[in-house]
Amino acid sequence: MPPSNPAKSRDGAARESRKHSLFATDDLAIIRRVLHYAAPYKMKIIGALLVGMLAGVLTAVNLVALIPVLTVLFEDPKGYAERVKATEADIVVLEGKLAGETSFFKRQHLQLDITKKKIDAQWKDWVRRKQEDAIYIMAALLVVAQILKNTLDFVSKYVLQKTFYLSIVRMRTELYSRCMTMDMPQFSRYLSGELISRLNNDIRAVRQVFTTMVGDIVLAPFAVLSLLVVLFLLNWRMTLIVMIGLPVIVLPIAALGKWLRSMGKKDEEEDSKLLSYTQETLQGLPVVKACVAEQREIDRFKTLSKEMARRQIRREKMRLIGDPAVEVLATFAMAGVICLGAYLVLKSTTATMSPASFLIYLGILTRFYPPIKRVSGTYVKLQKALANAERIFEVIDTRPSILEKKDAKVLVGFERDIVFENVTFSYREDRQPALRNFSFSFPKGRRVALVGETGAGKSTVIRLAPRLYDVNSGSIRIDGIDIRDVTLDSLRQLMSIVTQDPVLFNDTVYNNIAYSRPDATREEVIAAAEQALVMEFANTLPKGLDTVIGERGGQLSGGQKQRITIARSLLANTPILILDEATSALDNVSEALVQQAIERAMLDRTVIVIAHRLSTIRKADEIVVMEGGGIIERGTHEELMAKGGKYHALVTRPQQEELPG
Ligand code: ATP
Repeated sequence: MPPSNPAKSRDGAARESRKHSLFATDDLAIIRRVLHYAAPYKMKIIGALLVGMLAGVLTAVNLVALIPVLTVLFEDPKGYAERVKATEADIVVLEGKLAGETSFFKRQHLQLDITKKKIDAQWKDWVRRKQEDAIYIMAALLVVAQILKNTLDFVSKYVLQKTFYLSIVRMRTELYSRCMTMDMPQFSRYLSGELISRLNNDIRAVRQVFTTMVGDIVLAPFAVLSLLVVLFLLNWRMTLIVMIGLPVIVLPIAALGKWLRSMGKKDEEEDSKLLSYTQETLQGLPVVKACVAEQREIDRFKTLSKEMARRQIRREKMRLIGDPAVEVLATFAMAGVICLGAYLVLKSTTATMSPASFLIYLGILTRFYPPIKRVSGTYVKLQKALANAERIFEVIDTRPSILEKKDAKVLVGFERDIVFENVTFSYREDRQPALRNFSFSFPKGRRVALVGETGAGKSTVIRLAPRLYDVNSGSIRIDGIDIRDVTLDSLRQLMSIVTQDPVLFNDTVYNNIAYSRPDATREEVIAAAEQALVMEFANTLPKGLDTVIGERGGQLSGGQKQRITIARSLLANTPILILDEATSALDNVSEALVQQAIERAMLDRTVIVIAHRLSTIRKADEIVVMEGGGIIERGTHEELMAKGGKYHALVTRPQQEELPG
């Protein structure tokens, strides 16, 4: 039975803890798992983060470096000249003291003081003379600092993005591998569009957030922190006000993030339904047309599409409300700062701030806001991306229920028979069994035809033989060995399956045939193509066997498609052939060619065929008539006809060319 859904079982506890903190432990575990894909690039990421931090420090330092320049700009030149004179007078006094001092240490100390004063006097003198140049110095400083900061920023962001793109490749590949190796019980739990949506939409959403997230989550707080340190140094009182304002900004964003996330997960599920629906109707276009249902489908699509748009608009609205709301809230904090700053600079008798410092303070404050916004924005996006990541991990975490034993044997060939013994199987616990106590032996080299009404359990028999599903009770044995005791590969390599609905890939005819044995030589592929009568039509294609046949073989007729799949099975040359005969009618010529190809494929092989055509059934060594998951009659065509039972009834139905089922 399918394993319980791990993501779902986590949900309750996760929701509970999410109520109390920004990130629940579950969320952190998901983030850690996503980041784990970046593990091979750890050193590059650390390097990029360090470079990014340097850029952050530079921003703060640059601004502070402007303070003296601004001070000069605002200072009165006369005041400067007087202070130069005063410093020079101090130097004269100190030199006098030095001349009368005999202690070595005191002399050194005085010497140091004199040097400091001289530098100070020279600086002030230089400033007095160069005051008009200060503005140019400031401009040059800004340019140099900006170039440096932005270069570092670019390097850091580029490396981070690149590594995360590569990490997402690893994640996407793991997800795809999981889908590929998924067994049928699990696979049938998902709508096909749902898996495609996880591979595309969810992966894209996670990529978009995680490629910028690490940078934002680490670098933006660092930038905030370094600016905060500077702000504290400049004026701790004003900075406290800013800090008080911070929760006013952060808390509403956190609430918005949580809401978006819960909406996001639900919406994603709804959105993938539209994808499944679109896929289904496009694939079934011929049927839609035959039923003149085009307008009906267009209307339904429009309704579903509108519903999706409504969900997207609602999400967008919250996002659009979020941004300006944050900005307004931030302005409150800023207004508080301006008021206090004005008091400190203009009114306070013990003014603690020069106008230059105040200007720089405001300048830093405006730079302080974008990284906060970035972190909070990332938080909101991250909340949604966590829902996407959960959907991805839910698939990655599915564990196969069709398991191989550790000591599974390798089947090397097929010698005797496939025996079903008392097999009972149901697809789901809540369903009636599809097979009930089914016992039958398929001997080597014989053709057995399964016939019966639709739903009798014929397909189930051929699904159980290659272990696409496991029996609930009873056993299936090949040459006496239970198929659960052998490796899946060796079991499946004994069989080739030709299904009703030919599965072809958008590739050349040649590659579609060679799919069952990529190592086959060209001669072998051509031989199989000839035997299955593929060459008959391949020769008329523009590039022969090397013609690309379009998606699902769209450029070929039904009979041609079937012949390619028969050639594929001939090339595989497995001892057992499982055939689900097509019920769809082909025209007489096509039909005859397919029949001929099938006949050739059945030669010298053990065949289990779900038969619908009388011609196939007549040639069977044994016919098994099924009903309600069990066998009700068995024998040759003649025997069963003579018996006058169910088989007779099926065959002699009025205008019966094909058997039902
Ligand atoms: P048909 O000739 O129409 O293909 P069948 O004889 O091959 O019919 P099965 O496909 O073996 O019949 O189905 C046997 C029973 O199992 C049916 O009642 C069917 O509804 C059920 N069944 C088949 N496939 C599934 C599935 N994937 N999930 C759940 N139930 C299934």
